[in-house]
Amino acid sequence: MTQAAQDVWAQAQEKLRERLGQQTFDTWLKPVRALSLGEDAITLKVPNQFFIEWLEGHYINVINEALTQASSRAMRVIFVPPSREGSSQPPPSERIALVPNLPVDESGLRERYKFENFVIGKSNEFAYATAYATAQAPGRLYNPLFIYGGVGLGKTHLMQAIGHFVKFKRSKAHIYYTPAENFMNEMVHAIQNRRTWEFKNKYRTLDVLLIDDIQFLSDKTQTQEEIFHTFNSLYDHRRQIVLTSDRPPKDISHLEERLVSRFQSGLVADIQPPDIETRIAILKKKAAQDGFSVPNDVIYFIAESVKSNIRELEGCLIRVAAFGSVADRELTVELAREVLKNIITGNGKKPVNIETIQKTVAGFFSLTEDNLRSKKRTKELVVPRQMAMYLCRELTGASLNDIGGRFGGKDHTTVIHAITRVKDQISSNPETAAQVERITKLVKGE
Ligand code: ADP
Ligand code: MG
Repeated sequence: MTQAAQDVWAQAQEKLRERLGQQTFDTWLKPVRALSLGEDAITLKVPNQFFIEWLEGHYINVINEALTQASSRAMRVIFVPPSREGSSQPPPSERIALVPNLPVDESGLRERYKFENFVIGKSNEFAYATAYATAQAPGRLYNPLFIYGGVGLGKTHLMQAIGHFVKFKRSKAHIYYTPAENFMNEMVHAIQNRRTWEFKNKYRTLDVLLIDDIQFLSDKTQTQEEIFHTFNSLYDHRRQIVLTSDRPPKDISHLEERLVSRFQSGLVADIQPPDIETRIAILKKKAAQDGFSVPNDVIYFIAESVKSNIRELEGCLIRVAAFGSVADRELTVELAREVLKNIITGNGKKPVNIETIQKTVAGFFSLTEDNLRSKKRTKELVVPRQMAMYLCRELTGASLNDIGGRFGGKDHTTVIHAITRVKDQISSNPETAAQVERITKLVKGE
């Protein structure tokens, strides 16, 4: 479609041919066409759904590199399969695979997560201001900076923006971004391989340490201990620490008191869901970045439909725009409604399905979804798993067999047992009742 997209892709293809050899190239990359190009994303059309999986699974890193070289900037790839009108394909919204595979640098930072790409509104201006101030005087002003807020509201983006900024000012600064879960895995690995000294040394010599989603530490005693010492060591040397979480420090369950008090000792800033003006501004910026021209009424429709998660807001925009360009249809509100009908409901709330419930319950109890669905029978898994099954029954139209199937292939008697247990618990234990109520609200996006 656009010449620029085709030029960039043609150059990238040349590099891929050299890198992968003629045969691989002819099979997997030659048939791929460029559709559109934005500031930091390119939309590529592939022959079918299978290509998307194959390319993602095998060649995404080399494709990213080739595109970065060809366009002299970091690129994300949006793969779309061709539309086949009237065929027995799934609905359009499900046909479009999104590959949010931004390149990550050695500090763990994503290219796009910079201050200049962050739209400021009432809901996030305080967090933005404190993050910006922190970036200008790392280790001296707000230490630690603790940012908290709901899923998809920009915590990771802001935190990484601090890293980018410091790096830009002082290219030699040691900056490291890590999700708390990754910190724990690295620690466990170091212990197993008798490399704890290396591990400690790596973390304790940083200038800026960014630890994301610290609520994951709930209950992880040994990791908490290590974070405590890392924290003290960095703090004493006036190195900057930035933390994020989905809730304020004191609400993280089973977090040692001494960590709660340290996490609160600098500055705690929250991010709220964005208002309509901010959502519109974010969508406009995103459309420009991805190279889609989207009419205002469509932008407004999407902004009205998705209220509480910016990642979803962006996802909806890409789906609509990508579908429009693949099907070669004009972008209208009607088209947007059609493409998004399985994703959003009329009132802007998410439809409740088994997946949402599993995600929410796993998040609430700081478990992985895989563990939640597994057959493992440890106590910290059994209770959340039963609760998730109960909620699936209460909140979706799924049958007992469906539910069992989605929890690692359990039969319907197991599901009935789980539901009965949770019902008993709700009536006998006010704490469980309150938990179920809170999770239900989260699931419904209330
Ligand atoms: P969180 O870490 O809070 O779950 P992220 O930082 O991952 O959320 O943000 C989700 C997506 O929304 C990212 O693509 C991010 O760039 C985008 N985003 C969030 N807030 C903003 C904002 N204020 N302006 C522009 N993009 C934003
Ligand atoms: Mg995040």
